[in-house]
Amino acid sequence: MSFDVYKIRNHFPILRDKIYGKPLVYLDNGATTQKPLPVIECINAIHRHGNSSIHRGVHYLSDQATDAYEKARQIVQQFIHAKHSHEIIFTSGTTASINGLAFSFGERYIHEGDEIIITEMEHHANIVPWQMLCERKNTKLKVIPFNDDGILQLDEMEKMINKKTRLVAVIHASNTLATINPVKSIVSLAHKYNIPVIIDGAQSVPHIPIDVQEMDCDFFVFSGHKMYGPTGIGILYGKEKWLSDMPPFQGGGEMVDVVTFEKTTYNQLPYKFEAGTMNYVGAIGLGRAVEFILSAGQENIIRHEHDLLKYAVGRLDELGYITLYGRAPEKTSIVSFNIWDVHPYDAGMVLDKMGIAVRTGTHCAQTVMQHYGIEGNIRASFALYNTSEEIDYMVEGIKKVKSMFSG
Ligand code: PLP
Repeated sequence: MSFDVYKIRNHFPILRDKIYGKPLVYLDNGATTQKPLPVIECINAIHRHGNSSIHRGVHYLSDQATDAYEKARQIVQQFIHAKHSHEIIFTSGTTASINGLAFSFGERYIHEGDEIIITEMEHHANIVPWQMLCERKNTKLKVIPFNDDGILQLDEMEKMINKKTRLVAVIHASNTLATINPVKSIVSLAHKYNIPVIIDGAQSVPHIPIDVQEMDCDFFVFSGHKMYGPTGIGILYGKEKWLSDMPPFQGGGEMVDVVTFEKTTYNQLPYKFEAGTMNYVGAIGLGRAVEFILSAGQENIIRHEHDLLKYAVGRLDELGYITLYGRAPEKTSIVSFNIWDVHPYDAGMVLDKMGIAVRTGTHCAQTVMQHYGIEGNIRASFALYNTSEEIDYMVEGIKKVKSMFSG
């Protein structure tokens, strides 16, 4: 399938906008991606002609909305190659999925004195819920370190595992270093000791094909808004054996079977974990986003983003005054860097005035910044619609920043 980035860009109306009179150069895709017309129009069409609460009514609109919602579940199931559609739980995003797991999995399987392993490169969403669980249950968090190139030290993981280890929770692709971690090896090592593994796929799903069965992970979580879908929708995938056994993390309508004042029994999977009126508009929009990714071609996306990454690293390196964080051989399309003698916020503000959106700060990964002893950095994260011309423009901006702030 051929891939024409300029044709792809036509699907994204916002990319034609001007910021301070300059063309928008949107390089903050790690935070959230822009939305293509099929997703925008799908959401619009639901609100105009298809809106109704799902799983509730016998009327036409409710049936239509329910069918579309359940179809979206199947689209996601096929996209990540889950065995069953009832292993796909809709949540409001990665953060909600991990918090849900920390509650449900934690309630059932984590006890005083147990241990949970994470990595030094986690997003706060995969640190804080576990710390909160540790406080509740008096358990301990252990951390697999990474080296200065941003590569996990997996030999340390095996040393950390012991009889008290109950769970490993790992970021698939780092939102700061861009490292794609060898999750298959991590899962097989953990499984050797019968320890389940949660993979945070927030930064991998938009960029690389996912096969949860091949990975053999126990749980996999991600967000719709980082993969061209709507905000407020995300996925918690879990193997059936775990989801059937775990208690729900929220109580309310629809997640129940029989409710009496004495006792409540719960609905079957996946509804046991979908309490209240779900974000069906978001779920259906997410289904459209998946179809958009598939129509662009995942191989094309990999190739294009890989070219962008290589080009950006080359252009930054040739400047001679850039420190780049994360040089793992397997990376997604993110460059994290600092300009020597320039505060990242100053750089971000100058770039902003040129119409360039980059992220500055700690990117919800303070422990990564602590590793390098820095307060923060600049992150340019590329999506399938970015171009090498945009990278050239960013480099022009960096030169301007450098001349303004350090002579
Ligand atoms: N995990 C990673 C790796 C992320 O990059 C992010 C968002 O930046 C999250 C989790 C949290 O995602 P959300 O804010 O969509 O819940």
